[in-house]
Amino acid sequence: MISNRKREDVLPLHVMELPRKVVVGEEILGDMGSILGDLELGKNALLIWGPNVKKIVGDTLLGSLEEKGYEVNWEIAGPSTFQEVERISQVTLKVGASFLVGIGGGRSIDIAKLASFNSKLPFVSVPTSASHDGISSPFASVKGLDRPYSVVAKPPIAIVADVSIISKAPLPLLVSGCGDLVSKLTAVRDWELSHERTGEYFGGYSANLALLSADLVVNNASAISDKSQDAVRVVVEALISAGVAAGIAGSSRPCSGSEHLFSHAMDITAPGKGMHGEKCGMGSIIMAKLHGLDYMQIKDALSLMGAPTKSSDIGATEEEIIKALVLAKNIRKERYTILNEKQLTSETAKNLAKEVGVI
Ligand SMILES: [Zn+2]
Repeated sequence: MISNRKREDVLPLHVMELPRKVVVGEEILGDMGSILGDLELGKNALLIWGPNVKKIVGDTLLGSLEEKGYEVNWEIAGPSTFQEVERISQVTLKVGASFLVGIGGGRSIDIAKLASFNSKLPFVSVPTSASHDGISSPFASVKGLDRPYSVVAKPPIAIVADVSIISKAPLPLLVSGCGDLVSKLTAVRDWELSHERTGEYFGGYSANLALLSADLVVNNASAISDKSQDAVRVVVEALISAGVAAGIAGSSRPCSGSEHLFSHAMDITAPGKGMHGEKCGMGSIIMAKLHGLDYMQIKDALSLMGAPTKSSDIGATEEEIIKALVLAKNIRKERYTILNEKQLTSETAKNLAKEVGVI
């Protein structure tokens, strides 16, 4: 039918890329071989992990995969750089891997995700902490690229999240994941705004899925600070669905708005201070105020979880926050957000950050 019509007359293509299998449970890494069995990934696995993670889950994972007849090679993930992705891509080729598995908090997963994308091979995500939505999204960030924000790769073909391992990770990592989730409240508002102003595609389903993930952590804020197994599960599942929302949207839009631009700007003005999700949560308080949303609701939820809400909580200075707020709109110029409408100067940025109590 479409062949009789001009391309301009039909709806633009919208491609959704989603994981095929998501497994969340307790002490499931010993079943890894069986979990992957029906995915037809081939029998040659390359595992990417850090030295600590290898110590904790190495024997269990290797044993489980070898028992099911997989040939398993592994590499210790180096620094999160473009060069390291290249190195792992070379190793992938050398060992003839048929799929990659990234096991860890962020670095190993990002490196495995990008190396598998380069090698056109499937990738399995095994998060050992719940600190950001990269555990399930098609996006990854490493240093050495031409931009300070995430790049598009492919979503994991499978996500295997062992809550008993993730709940042993330090609380600040979990709380940082919650900051990344809360930030969807402003990210979605920015996306809607862009749709209104620029006509950019807006997907109601993925937007609502991202908002649902944010609401889940806002409503479970006090249980999260107790780090109960149930609360950890809520956060893990919310992070997975936020990443899936990005896959459905076909862009990071439902997960990343002006508050993420602020977080990326902080990476430049205050390098090494605060985790990604912590900075996004803080940015979300500020951007909610700019949007005219209930910023106190965001701030109270973050406080209740024990997440940072003030510059001093992450060891940043007032000056670093103000500079990041002014810089944020230049981080990703094609991405329309509230920062395009409220051009912040040093003075207005300072007043804004003071008003919401971030400085
Ligand atoms: Zn994020």
